[in-house]
Amino acid sequence: MNRPIDLRSDTVTKPTSAMRRAMAEAEVGDDVFGDDPTVQRLETRVAEVLGKEAALFVPSGAMANQLAVRVHTQPGDEILLDANAHIYFYEAGGPAALSGVMCRCLAGTRGVFTGADVAAALRPADVHFPPTRLVCVENTHNRGGGKVWPLDRLSEVATTARQHGLKLHLDGARLWNASVASGVPERDYAALFDTVSVCFSKGLGAPVGSALTGPQKLIERARRFRKQFGGGMRQVGIIAAGALHALEHHRERLAEDHANARRLATALAEMPGVDIDPATVETNLVYFRVTRVPAADLVARLKAADVLVLASGPDTIRAVTNLEVSAADIETAIAALRTALR
Ligand SMILES: *Cc1c(COP(=O)(O)O)cnc(C)c1O
Repeated sequence: MNRPIDLRSDTVTKPTSAMRRAMAEAEVGDDVFGDDPTVQRLETRVAEVLGKEAALFVPSGAMANQLAVRVHTQPGDEILLDANAHIYFYEAGGPAALSGVMCRCLAGTRGVFTGADVAAALRPADVHFPPTRLVCVENTHNRGGGKVWPLDRLSEVATTARQHGLKLHLDGARLWNASVASGVPERDYAALFDTVSVCFSKGLGAPVGSALTGPQKLIERARRFRKQFGGGMRQVGIIAAGALHALEHHRERLAEDHANARRLATALAEMPGVDIDPATVETNLVYFRVTRVPAADLVARLKAADVLVLASGPDTIRAVTNLEVSAADIETAIAALRTALR
């Protein structure tokens, strides 16, 4: 039977057999009582990798981000973030619904903005204005095409934010990809931020789970809000074991996903009716524009050839390399794309 080559997302991967074994054998307890040793091991380990005091295991990246917004703000505050930020674009209005804050969007380039952009968006201390409280950064930037923030630019944004007394949160759902691509350790990025969220279920290939990391006191507050948001979980070590396995075994291999994405982008650039600059493909996300067929038609043609991608707009397609896609699969996908575009 033909297995489809699934390039829709890096969230589609299924747990490997080694991961399933780790999950089956996990020691568990009631984590709401603080009794789950596997969750505790995961939280300790992820805090260590990111150089933070503490970590909290949560069901999703959206919950990790929304908990961060919640602990840093009061209702009526304003947060600054790129107009294409996941927190603003893809989290179902969470900042408004869960924290009662306003989002002020910055016009970044592929998700990357400047210290001057932050300074220009600050509100004067005046009774008319919502207090600006928090800056959120996303690295790698999803809608920015997996863009890696240059460390010096991050540092500039952090310095400006600190000068004005703002808090900083990093949406690091794909921080692992940023580190593998740039060689900058996760903890060096994380050091610039108060809180950092990371996902285990994207490129790392765990079935479920994210973490919020930061200072002990803030993470304790986040633990209360996690319960309030309905995210207190019981014998969740079963799930945490998959995340821990992913963290220990699947980080370095992201380099393969990046090489596969580059190969795909380079081949796409040579196809008629495709618009892509392969130089913009730094990690595992490949976005391209189709100029001769509607994106939805191309998606359907590829699906008939057992290659799955997503239309991310009327004329844009997203293809994401992942743990289950080999270099040979990429060659198959390239051949299918050539045929489908004909
Ligand atoms: C996937 C993703 C998240 C979290 O998404 P969930 O589906 O809630 O786990 C957060 N930020 C970015 C940039 C993402 O790509």
